[in-house]
Amino acid sequence: MSVVQAPTNTPDSFRNKVSSIGEEGARNWLYPKKPSGKFYKARTIVSWLLFVFLFGAPFIKVDGHPFMLFNIIERKFVFFGLVFFPQDFYLVVLGILTALISIFLFTAVFGRIWCGWLCPQTIFLEMLFRKIEYLFEGDGRQQRQYNEAPMTPGKAIKKVLKQAIFFVLSFFIANMFLSYIIGIDELKKIVTDPPSQHLVGLFAILVFSFLFYGVFAWFREQACIIVCPYGRYQSALVDVNTIAVSYDFKRGEPRGKLVKIDPKRIATEAVPARGDCVDCKQCVEVCPTGIDIRNGIQLECVNCTACIDACNSVMDKIKKPRGLIRYTSLTTIKDGKSHWLSPRILGYTGVWLLITCLFLFFFIRRPMTEVLILRQPGSLAQKQANGEILNFYLLQVANKQAHDVPVELKLISPQKGQITMVGEFSPVPRITEKTGRFFLAMPKEETSGGDMNVKFGIYSQGKLLKEIETKFLTTTLN
Ligand code: SF4
Ligand code: SF4
Repeated sequence: MSVVQAPTNTPDSFRNKVSSIGEEGARNWLYPKKPSGKFYKARTIVSWLLFVFLFGAPFIKVDGHPFMLFNIIERKFVFFGLVFFPQDFYLVVLGILTALISIFLFTAVFGRIWCGWLCPQTIFLEMLFRKIEYLFEGDGRQQRQYNEAPMTPGKAIKKVLKQAIFFVLSFFIANMFLSYIIGIDELKKIVTDPPSQHLVGLFAILVFSFLFYGVFAWFREQACIIVCPYGRYQSALVDVNTIAVSYDFKRGEPRGKLVKIDPKRIATEAVPARGDCVDCKQCVEVCPTGIDIRNGIQLECVNCTACIDACNSVMDKIKKPRGLIRYTSLTTIKDGKSHWLSPRILGYTGVWLLITCLFLFFFIRRPMTEVLILRQPGSLAQKQANGEILNFYLLQVANKQAHDVPVELKLISPQKGQITMVGEFSPVPRITEKTGRFFLAMPKEETSGGDMNVKFGIYSQGKLLKEIETKFLTTTLN
């Protein structure tokens, strides 16, 4: 069987390869040059604000509960101090839908701004791990030379030290990640109690530490290029009107090395026209995903703006206006006009407004105390010595408020009947879902018609929280 090789020397050949994978399929390690410039400075400030938020939020408490919590184990969720229980799942679905459509809308207008400026993968890799690497091994080219040089004891020590720092950082990130799931108080217990008491927790910390270490020390840009589903979606979301990091080919082409031309030559002979791109490849050298933005918008581009900074500094040196690479759209480059308000954007905006209003409507109206009464699964009706019929029920109250809620259970219909709680139930502690059990005893004359409906009322300080109707069985007697 013959193997057809993808062409490698056509203008479109960049489409046939992934920069981080070599011709033979092995990893092609990238050594991006350290960016510098006003975008990099701005991204550094944004990143540090995000670090403060990500590492600080687990320590913030609102009315005694965490500011952010995604406890899937105990099914308790707190977003910006607002508590959600599984009963609020419809809100979570609406919230996820709102977030997805926001991403669609935002990406359609502004491209992958999220990836370059806010995504934890990018900010941890570029602003933490990569900076440590620059500190230990120098800029991109120096790193390549250093790696290709023979191993010496000094180099081995440096490499081990760098990897050790990477692992410690990954360990901190794993702890932070876990504190969002189990809460900072539980995490403190895992850290301070004897290890034997928290073997599962310690195992989880170790697994996440190795996972983050693997991603940031080794897998790196491949997470964005190969794994991230948002990167794949991008091709369906962006169009010619999307404002993204773009190369102004009208101004830059035909590209060519900077050459000094004798003014006399210009006057006497036809000198080939030259664009502003001097083909210095600085924009490629700084790219953390190893692409050439001059080929147009590509899936690998995370809109990190490093190539804008690199090209601007080249333009400064050759005394040309900045912005050969800039945030702009293909139509703006071609026509000089922006057409970002397209029917597609208007459609996304309409759907986004609708879903957001629905989400806000249900969010504002959501009950702060949820009640559920069910017949105890598997239980049968029982006959007492005095002839009364007993049914066994399960009562569940979710209190989403920051204070304890006293509750009282009453029988609304029929009026004759006696409720007996099993153990103490009230009050329901703050931000807790409490489950209790109770018996309902019904006089024989009330049950003569067979199985019947009963209605309970759950009150708090005299105020009716909810009425619940359920079945009272009489026929399945022991
Ligand atoms: S940095 Fe600017 S001038 Fe240099 S190759 Fe890239 S686009 Fe051309
Ligand atoms: S092309 Fe530019 S913006 Fe895109 S990833 Fe590379 S350096 Fe960042």
